Amino acid sequence: MKAAVLSEIGGPLVVEEVPRPQPRNGEVLVKVTACGVCHTDLHVVKGEVKFPLPAVLGHEISGVVEEVASGVSGVKPRDRVVCSFVMPCGFCYYCIRGRDDLCETFFAMNRLRGTLYDGESRLRRADGSPLAMYSMAGLAEYAVVPASDVFPAPADLPLADTCILGCAIMTAYGAVKNQAQVLPGETVVVVGVGGVGSNAIQVARVFGATEVIAVDVRDDKLEAARKLGATQVVNASKGDPVAQVMSLTGGRGADVAIEALGRPETVVNAFMMTRDGGRTVVIGIAAGQATAGIEVTRLVRRGIRLSGSYGCRVRTDMPEVLRLAAKGQIDVSQPITRRYRLAEADQAYAALSRGEVIGRAIVVME
Ligand SMILES: [Zn+2]
Ligand SMILES: [Zn+2]
Repeated sequence: MKAAVLSEIGGPLVVEEVPRPQPRNGEVLVKVTACGVCHTDLHVVKGEVKFPLPAVLGHEISGVVEEVASGVSGVKPRDRVVCSFVMPCGFCYYCIRGRDDLCETFFAMNRLRGTLYDGESRLRRADGSPLAMYSMAGLAEYAVVPASDVFPAPADLPLADTCILGCAIMTAYGAVKNQAQVLPGETVVVVGVGGVGSNAIQVARVFGATEVIAVDVRDDKLEAARKLGATQVVNASKGDPVAQVMSLTGGRGADVAIEALGRPETVVNAFMMTRDGGRTVVIGIAAGQATAGIEVTRLVRRGIRLSGSYGCRVRTDMPEVLRLAAKGQIDVSQPITRRYRLAEADQAYAALSRGEVIGRAIVVME
């Protein structure tokens, strides 16, 4: 099969012919239809997030089940499926408490070592040397995925487009539902309306937010945000974004501020846009060990809840996300503005790096 391989920091992603992986007990082999182009992969490409190389990146996929190994009962060959980037082990301290987003096995085995949960990657080069897997290594024609992370795709939606449910939309959903706990009638501000941020807008509307303010530095991204449900937009390059949000919210700030960029200055801005007693939720992964300066007395005196949110609680949240998509309450197609072929994967990440991608780009196989 073909896979886009990252051999060294800085890239490029080169498509190589590698052996088709084999699923082991409890795993599913998925013929990948599409894989989303996410900033977290780009952090790995740039060396801002440490990961073993050579590796195959790509962590939000849709596809068709090709083969199931022993111990898999939920899906069968030819099922159309979606897989999320957090692949819960189901057995660790956090998984048994329903906190799939914190799965210890996933972090220890996959995010640090690039393997699945028996400590081995399913991918090798033609010469037999191992290739690390970032999540299920979706930038390839086939991917092995733990069965706990394989969900039926909504039947009536274009299968390729549903891949973005597996990171961009589920991350937005986890933040809005579990950490921000957005309530009907509230005002939500989303700072950074790229792949995840633009979907936080639509999810916030699903949860009943009356006003959703989109903040970004590009007018074309803000225009796209309006189409996804933003009621007001703020161009942060045209004057202090905190002051602009304050004036749109009667001087009080938003009930919820979601930061979807992972930059110290935007984390601080989101915190400063949050009203007294409100919630600031950070979902952007930052480069390396970046830190942000939060005004302690403001945090304390104003009773602001500041939290991070990583993905979602996969086994409970993904079925809800999939139902919302099936009913059309979350639009999977509108956020997708660019489609690349696997051979063009490197160009896709280059465009993302230049900030050119509105919403989400996806890589479609074949
Ligand atoms: Zn992602
Ligand atoms: Zn676990």
